[in-house]
Amino acid sequence: MAWFINHYECERCGGTWRDEWSCMCDDDCPHCGARHMTPAESEDLTEVIDERGADFIVLRSPDTAEHDPDYRELGRFATRKEALAFLEADGD
Ligand SMILES: [Zn+2]
Repeated sequence: MAWFINHYECERCGGTWRDEWSCMCDDDCPHCGARHMTPAESEDLTEVIDERGADFIVLRSPDTAEHDPDYRELGRFATRKEALAFLEADGD
């Protein structure tokens, strides 16, 4: 399971909103209630780098995640550069 932030723009009222979900799925407009709007844009948050204090922590949403990302820590690094290098080396 991946994890996404979906960005929506309503075709009926032009309202925008965003939602986090485990897929790039359709959503209903919170402004006017129009159904089944398709995401205009999605950010893949399956793997993220979280800055906590002096550490950069690489997190991944596991396949078992459904209703929240349920992030698991893959490693801690002193710099963002090292964390990025780790993600690239570990990439699919
Ligand atoms: Zn709308």
